[in-house]
Amino acid sequence: MSPMFVPGPVDVAPDVAQQQTRPMLPHRGKEFEAIFQQASEKARQLFYTQHRVFLMTNSGSGAHEASVRNLAKTSVLSCVNGSFSKRFYDVALANGKQTDKVEAPLGQPVLPEMVAEALQKKHYELITVVHNETSTGVMNPIQEIAAVVQQISPDTLIAVDAVSSLAGVKVEMDAWGIDVLFTSSQKCLALPPGLALCAVNERALARAKEVPFRGWYFDFLLLEKHRLNDSTPMTPAMPLIYALDYQLDRIFAEGLENRFARHSAMAQRCQDWAMQKGWGLFAAEGYRSQTLTVIANPPEFDCAEFNKQIVPRGMRLANGYGDLKGKTFRIAHMGEIHPSDIEKLLAALDEYWASKH
Ligand SMILES: *Cc1c(COP(=O)(O)O)cnc(C)c1O
Repeated sequence: MSPMFVPGPVDVAPDVAQQQTRPMLPHRGKEFEAIFQQASEKARQLFYTQHRVFLMTNSGSGAHEASVRNLAKTSVLSCVNGSFSKRFYDVALANGKQTDKVEAPLGQPVLPEMVAEALQKKHYELITVVHNETSTGVMNPIQEIAAVVQQISPDTLIAVDAVSSLAGVKVEMDAWGIDVLFTSSQKCLALPPGLALCAVNERALARAKEVPFRGWYFDFLLLEKHRLNDSTPMTPAMPLIYALDYQLDRIFAEGLENRFARHSAMAQRCQDWAMQKGWGLFAAEGYRSQTLTVIANPPEFDCAEFNKQIVPRGMRLANGYGDLKGKTFRIAHMGEIHPSDIEKLLAALDEYWASKH
């Protein structure tokens, strides 16, 4: 298999992909319901939650929409420090919510004191935070942010996008007091795209009851009603659920702690390598992602040119995202990527760089 060092869609192990070819079943029949129930029960371990995990047939961005539609009548505070957290903000605006933002410069984290300041000025029903900002390689301190929210404004709900970190980094939903926590299938879970996993606690369901016009497709109360019968309101992405059920067993066989350690070891290796070369790490020290490393392009480094050399060798690197395209490049080390793959990539990078000098 050729390692793709891109932050989604990532490589899918052949035996995982194979699960998708299992025969279709009636989605409201006992046989499928048993698989659905088993997969969603198992998924709770990834979220460190006693609450439910909805398996939603949409990509992660659908969970942005679900969060703002279900958890706020009007007022939302969005933490913004990159393209994906900006998207969460844009989704809140697009759904007609009065949305303010707490902004940090690209490469810097959103800090708890910035959130505290905003909460002291005004009351919000919901705060949105991205855990791992995939555009900059910053990991926001969500545990500390959740703590200040609980302290200053205990009835403000917290929705966390952990799309590019969950299943690669430990995020403890219940212990940290997160109300809605979600990811998509095509990042650290190493599944094909098309499924979102969204954990929702009781406080969040209670809030949804008070919010009119939650829409239909993303209505948490409707999803919950069907989940209680091991089902979904609409036809689910059955092949992805087969693959998820199987992949969760593979993940637990590796062991969650081992999996998290593998991701952080690869992050450390990439950071050390870049620093040793004198190349700048884009994310601020102390807040660097465990699932991808974003490196400032040295002069003359051309990601597209490098990819031309390595794609025939079965590898691929990610260019910078959004405004950072051409200014940074990104090494994603998530899902099925192992330290030996990283060594191959770094050797190729060394070789490319030596050939230019
Ligand atoms: C990829 C990504 C998204 C978007 O997820 P989709 O599954 O493409 O909708 C949102 N947030 C973060 C942090 C991401 O990395």
